[in-house]
Amino acid sequence: MAEQPDQTAYPVAGDGTMRGTGPGGAKAEATYYTAERVTTARKNIEEHDWAKNLFNRVLEGDEICYYIGPQYGPANFYAECDDEFMWMLQPTTQIGRVLPPESIANCPVHGTAVRSINPFCPYRIDPINNPYKIQCMMGGEWYPSNDYAAGDMTSGKFPDDGNGCLHNGQYYYFLREYAHMVYGSTVIPALRSLSQAYQITGDPRYGRSGSILLARLASEYPNHNDRKDRLYFAKYGGRSPKYAWKTGGMITDLIWETFCLEGAVYAYDGL
Ligand SMILES: [Zn+2]
Repeated sequence: MAEQPDQTAYPVAGDGTMRGTGPGGAKAEATYYTAERVTTARKNIEEHDWAKNLFNRVLEGDEICYYIGPQYGPANFYAECDDEFMWMLQPTTQIGRVLPPESIANCPVHGTAVRSINPFCPYRIDPINNPYKIQCMMGGEWYPSNDYAAGDMTSGKFPDDGNGCLHNGQYYYFLREYAHMVYGSTVIPALRSLSQAYQITGDPRYGRSGSILLARLASEYPNHNDRKDRLYFAKYGGRSPKYAWKTGGMITDLIWETFCLEGAVYAYDGL
């Protein structure tokens, strides 16, 4: 007899009702992270090195890199963060994520020489130690010069309030760059880790930090009705400023969003 598919992997039960939903379609219970799956995961962590190593990545996090590389954020660190930090980890989508072509890979100090390091994004981010800043890979300097996370919009030579920094006639979009990178490389990995750590351990600290971040993401998520102005290409009339045929995307690009949204949905199930 052919092996039967795992019915619990599908959201619609045999009688046509949505699994795990309560009044108004709200989630009443996990549908993917079933008791059976969680029991198996706990057993694997006890018995197998590969599972222990994977769970360690959930707790300690992967290194941040551009763009979809990191799978897990440091759940143990986030469990100790205050609510405000978790809420602010996902920037408002009122900050754009797309740069005009002439502003891509351009540094106010090093100019376009940074393209020899990376022609798309010669910047790195460290949202834990330097929230709302990007670091030039060539000189190691951080932008913008103001402390946006602390509500400071104007300090220093290179301020950016989310609308870009005009310097010597050229616009630099430090916070757009940050908002783009942090979503895929930090926010989604954080949600994945916190939801899985919560399922595996039952420790409510993971659940709390994850739920706050997920609520923030939901409150900032764009749509095509009353939140068109927050879509990926919103600042450019819904189309890429470089390739007019290219539309779509939500917080990030139309391709990357498919990976990110999947991560958010599993996190919703686990939190
Ligand atoms: Zn630089």
